Amino acid sequence: RPRVLSGIQPTSGSFHLGNYLGAVRQWVDMQEANDAFYMVVDLHAITVEQDPAALRQNTRVSVAQLLGAGLDPERCTLFVQSHVPEHAQLAWVMNCLTGFGEASRMTQFKDKSLKQGADRTTVGLFTYPVLMVADVLLYQTQTVPVGEDQRQHLELTRDLAERFNTRYGKTLTVPEPYILKATAKIQDLQDPTAKMSKSAASDKGLISLLDPPKTSAKKFKSAVTDTDTVVTYDEANKPGVSNLLRIHSALSGMSVEQLVAHFDGKMYGALKTELAELFTDWVTPFQTRTQEYLDDPAELDRVLALGAEKARAVASETLAEVYDRVGFLAPK
Ligand code: ATP
Ligand code: MG
Repeated sequence: RPRVLSGIQPTSGSFHLGNYLGAVRQWVDMQEANDAFYMVVDLHAITVEQDPAALRQNTRVSVAQLLGAGLDPERCTLFVQSHVPEHAQLAWVMNCLTGFGEASRMTQFKDKSLKQGADRTTVGLFTYPVLMVADVLLYQTQTVPVGEDQRQHLELTRDLAERFNTRYGKTLTVPEPYILKATAKIQDLQDPTAKMSKSAASDKGLISLLDPPKTSAKKFKSAVTDTDTVVTYDEANKPGVSNLLRIHSALSGMSVEQLVAHFDGKMYGALKTELAELFTDWVTPFQTRTQEYLDDPAELDRVLALGAEKARAVASETLAEVYDRVGFLAPK
């Protein structure tokens, strides 16, 4: 079975709708036919300042949401990144293969460091894409389901895998991104030219999955659109409406063409109201399931212990091979 891997940050407790539609939903689908590894990437979270107690709690809440969304620990390997020390170990080797200029071209780093301010930007944030490279290569991953914002990091991953193989001999699998066009870039509801993001400056346009559904319904209803009134799909001129149509389509299963016909003669308000209802219908049982996992910390710990063990079995094998290829003297 093809090997799949992906991760999500526990930066803020709740996932947002972009995380779910762009990534997590594909994870759930892919656990059936693939040998899938999914993780909560707490090492990545500390690239920006985190409160220790909040990070610990947010990691639990993240795992509970993944289970609530439908990951089944019998079918996939679900773990916390810091439970597998090989991630940081392989990242060091990969750091030593990465050009400084190459790392400097990562647009997410540029965006995030701009947001943080130069004096608060850490070296960790700078090399975070290289840690992600290690995350993927450690599992000899073939397919990485992610949103559009990760495309550049996946290209770096492919480049570094090839570089390692050229320098040291074929060792690492060169992965492919799996990016579903329809949901790869869910936009902020207040600023439809920016991606919905956990680290957005304002949460007005952010649909957080753990917010009371009424709060999210209000956000859908006050989503920024345009001064036109006709519901049509036009990414360039109607980014707000097009974003709402993509979200509706993803939640309802109707195609964008069907939706445009469905809303013929109706105004934006109708689209927003329907979307709020669709979302509420999906998110309510999701929240119930997530809460059930949060109420059973022993079960959550059991799932994570099992996941860490399965992940380490694969990760340690790759790391040992890499260490050997690089020329590290094996401890006797
Ligand atoms: P941050 O802004 O702090 O980086 P994030 O919202 O990007 O947080 P991540 O944990 O970095 O969340 O991303 C988890 C997954 O969700 C990744 O696969 C990412 O590509 C995907 N993703 C994030 N935002 C969106 C979005 N707006 N639309 C579609 N996919 C997204
Ligand atoms: Mg991100």
